[in-house]
Amino acid sequence: MPSSDIAILGGGISGIIAALELEARGVFPTLYESSGRLGGRVKTDFFDDIPLDHGFQVLLTAYPEVIKYLDLSVLELNYFKPGAYIFRKDGKVELIGDAFRDPSFLWPTIKANSAGLLDKVKLLGEQRRISALSVDEIFNQIDRPTIDSLHSKYSRRFINQFFKPFYGGIFLEKQLKTTVIQFEFVFHMFAKGYAAMPKRGMQAVIDQLCEKLTKTKVLLNQKVTIEEALNRHDKVIQTFAEKDQKWHGTEVFYFELPNTSKYSDILQHVIGLFPDSNSVNSIHVLKGRNTSILSATAIGVSEDSERLEMSIREEIKMRSGIEPGKLVKHFKIEKALPVISEIRLKPDSSNADSAVIWSGDYLLYPSLNAAMSSGRNAAEKALQA
Ligand SMILES: Cc1cc2nc3c(=O)[nH]c(=O)nc-3n(C[C@H](O)[C@H](O)[C@H](O)COP(=O)(O)OP(=O)(O)OC[C@H]3O[C@@H](n4cnc5c(N)ncnc54)[C@H](O)[C@@H]3O)c2cc1C
Repeated sequence: MPSSDIAILGGGISGIIAALELEARGVFPTLYESSGRLGGRVKTDFFDDIPLDHGFQVLLTAYPEVIKYLDLSVLELNYFKPGAYIFRKDGKVELIGDAFRDPSFLWPTIKANSAGLLDKVKLLGEQRRISALSVDEIFNQIDRPTIDSLHSKYSRRFINQFFKPFYGGIFLEKQLKTTVIQFEFVFHMFAKGYAAMPKRGMQAVIDQLCEKLTKTKVLLNQKVTIEEALNRHDKVIQTFAEKDQKWHGTEVFYFELPNTSKYSDILQHVIGLFPDSNSVNSIHVLKGRNTSILSATAIGVSEDSERLEMSIREEIKMRSGIEPGKLVKHFKIEKALPVISEIRLKPDSSNADSAVIWSGDYLLYPSLNAAMSSGRNAAEKALQA
């Protein structure tokens, strides 16, 4: 008989998916969440009608787990175009993108000198190669740092002008030491789908999942240890990392911006990159009914956020001509993405018989897809006799 008294510790995506999977099998868990809300690292505040996520996050529509668990049609997604503006240190502004998916990128990409001709040809070849791989094939490769793999294919100029700010912004580390498996997985997902943002922010993902949670007993503001949970329940699904887990951090600054500001329309749909910057890594624009917001992301966390804000303002103005207005919100997130040395597609099955089942993105690779798949896996393990 499956154990029917299961506790889930942590109400992030992984805990929510574990609860949904248990409910679907007729088992109704108790979910303990230490904070006052569900969602974990996915959280959105509002400025008027404009969603301000706690850290710049996007939904990759090709994520297999996103397709499985979310109804994207009701999220009113704002899709990013498959490319980027590059606001270079020398003042030049270039647009680079996938002209096969969006022909408006063709001419600017041909002209752009952030990448040489060989780089552009190689990128096309890599797009074909990585798109044709299955996710299993990507994860079965011999691993090495992304930067080593890029150096074997592209010029230093292209790596610095494009890959470092673009993928550095995704991995939240500028050196691109993150494994090439993670890089090719993300690259594959970009090639197969789009990066998108729900109209109501990433919190809309949590809201949609939580609507389906009907039989789980949710207890908020309950910080519980595994031992305490085992005293009350037969099995425990633990979804947060140990204290010694290492993390990549980020800061995001949301500035008011006049609706008429330079680049304000296009930056809603294309990300703006700042290569070789010590302050800002990327920007984009969120438009509301009455005003616009410029979101500026820095990789890592600084000891002096006010100084960082000043540098970001100067750098944005100098390179793009955009003048950030009043700061409306700032988030400093020290534990944004777990640093993972050995990336896995699926959880280790070695603790299948244990009363404690581990779950969460930190066990696999940092992403919503991993959090979802590990949540489902944990629920399945918890139901094993
Ligand atoms: C700034 C930022 C940008 C990101 N960008 C992307 C992106 O673009 N694309 C993408 O796919 N992913 C992105 N991610 C990663 C994604 O958000 C995470 O992979 C996912 O949210 C992790 O979910 P989780 O359930 O594994 O962990 P968490 O969300 O961390 O959930 C763990 C939960 O456990 C709770 N908890 C902790 N201790 C206890 C306790 N003792 N008792 C009870 N509860 C406890 C916490 O409060 C939390 O709610 C980003 C994350 C951040 C922060």
